[in-house]
Amino acid sequence: MRRARLATAAIGITALVVATVPAGGAFVAAAPSGERARTFTAEDPDNPRLAPVKDPVAIGRGGAVSSVDPEATAIGLRVLRRGGTAADAAVAVAAALGVTEPYSAGIGGGGFLLHYDASKGTVSTIDGRETAPMDMPRDAFIDPETGEPYPFSPDLVTSGVSVGVPGTALLWGKALRRWGSLSLDRALTPAARLAKRGFIVDRTFALQTDENAERFAAFEASRDLFLTDGAAPPVGSRFVNTDLARTYRKMGNKGVEWLYSGRLGRNVVRNVRNPRTVPDTDLPVPPGFMRRSDLRDYTAPNRRPTKVDYLGLDVYGMAPPSSGGSTVGESLNILERLPVSKRNPVTSLHLYLESTAAAFADRAANLGDSDFVNVPLRELLSDGFAGERACTIDVDEAAPKPVAEGSPDGDYSVCKRAQGARAPVADTEGMSTTHLSVVDRRGDVVSYTLTIEQTGGSGITVPRRGFLLNNELTDFSTVYEADDPNRIQPGKRPRSSMSPTIVMRDGEPWLAVGSPGGSTIITTVLQVLLNRLDLGMNLVEAVEAPRATQRNTGSVVAEQDFIDLYGGDLSEFGHEFVPPGDPGTSGSDIGAVAAIELRRNGTLVAVAEPDRRGGGDAAVVEPR
Ligand code: GLU
Repeated sequence: MRRARLATAAIGITALVVATVPAGGAFVAAAPSGERARTFTAEDPDNPRLAPVKDPVAIGRGGAVSSVDPEATAIGLRVLRRGGTAADAAVAVAAALGVTEPYSAGIGGGGFLLHYDASKGTVSTIDGRETAPMDMPRDAFIDPETGEPYPFSPDLVTSGVSVGVPGTALLWGKALRRWGSLSLDRALTPAARLAKRGFIVDRTFALQTDENAERFAAFEASRDLFLTDGAAPPVGSRFVNTDLARTYRKMGNKGVEWLYSGRLGRNVVRNVRNPRTVPDTDLPVPPGFMRRSDLRDYTAPNRRPTKVDYLGLDVYGMAPPSSGGSTVGESLNILERLPVSKRNPVTSLHLYLESTAAAFADRAANLGDSDFVNVPLRELLSDGFAGERACTIDVDEAAPKPVAEGSPDGDYSVCKRAQGARAPVADTEGMSTTHLSVVDRRGDVVSYTLTIEQTGGSGITVPRRGFLLNNELTDFSTVYEADDPNRIQPGKRPRSSMSPTIVMRDGEPWLAVGSPGGSTIITTVLQVLLNRLDLGMNLVEAVEAPRATQRNTGSVVAEQDFIDLYGGDLSEFGHEFVPPGDPGTSGSDIGAVAAIELRRNGTLVAVAEPDRRGGGDAAVVEPR
């Protein structure tokens, strides 16, 4: 195995290379020449023998995987080595992330998968987004006892009300049938083994567990599975989930119908309608509305991807109910009309911030589930509309925020400055989720983002099944404006920001990109594209570069490194900056990208985060 050779500490792209050492005690890590060697003690959480081995960059041929987790990436790599397709590997990686990233991924949630089929030369998508149960009333977020909206957290998040009909398992089954060579059983087997064998708890997992400890403690099944004496299991300990191992095995045998029309579905419904809390909890846990018929009627539709032409490249993204493809696409269309270039990075970043403010105004006004509301997608992604939006952007000065939405009405003859911005709405999307990118040896590409919404979802673990239920329905608007395209409706899918993206150059796939991060997903994906396509960075630099996100709010949320580097210059344009979250919390980074570049000569460059969210892991089948 590639990893038996070396252990690499996850401390950046210029990672230390560590020699194998005898068990116990401190040991010295040999650094690349010129760098200081580093000593680790057995207790040091950076000790690479405790943390699994991660490489944020891998270059080579024959197939590639990038994800946030080394166990998941290794499983995907094995599938590819044995001749599996990108879809096979994507399902195997996603199932493994359900084990090691249970607070972000799993069969209790949903997601969106973009697929490039090399034999046909086409990009397709599967929508595995959760739906609202048919019994869900439009005022489901109002507490019947008080007549007031439930407080968002913990009441609404930690509730049966917020649990949407999960789509991930159906998406997996469908992806395997359309583009896979493995049975569901074989695709889930490596993850089942991983769940049984366990994985080593790292700092990110421990931090996320501790941040959820209070609400996990309220549910017997969540407490028993995730907490040790009321807190996270210690860093370096092994986390085993035999319930999930059994669940994957059974699903492999019985098929996804086990969830959608079988016993597993009954377990899910029971726990949504009557979440089993411990007797002495103070947490109010409003029950939900899901029925077995909601599961039976659930579908994971194929949707036509969004597509924009940017600098002669075709950028494919996810259509509604995600706002990812449209908002990334609209921003790119706007930027194409503005003086963006590596010769003036500061102006380019100013324009990036202005473009996303405009696109987020249009997102709020127009984006929802297109099966329920009329989303003017063609107009939003039209050149005419981009021209109308770009002409109002001042190259030297930031507009006061929030900016008003534009009019995607087909009439773009004059430069109309939009009037009357909507009152800003609190952004309650979680910062959780996970993304994976895969390329196989035939050239099929998958860009797949999946989530259970908040880190830890609804907090409700299905007893004896080993997975958490989502709180995706809190992605519906929590206020009740009559013209809001993202209002709750029975059967509707809440608006998402997930932005799995594939960029094509001359008809061949060039980049697969995506990220977690709630609504910051959109700006993260866009910023990586901007860095790579316009600002002269290679993919490694494009992913590593500090991030900022302007979602039509007064201040720009930016990582401290971004503020240090550009804050001074950009404040002269009128931008103000705030950091994303307290240092040391899981909210202090923006996004966690997993990307792959396919070079014309067949070389694959797989890139994950060097640092954010504890660093990710990239691998290729034949390393260079
Ligand atoms: N629920 C969010 C969405 O669908 C994603 C949450 C996250 O990234 O943490 O857009």
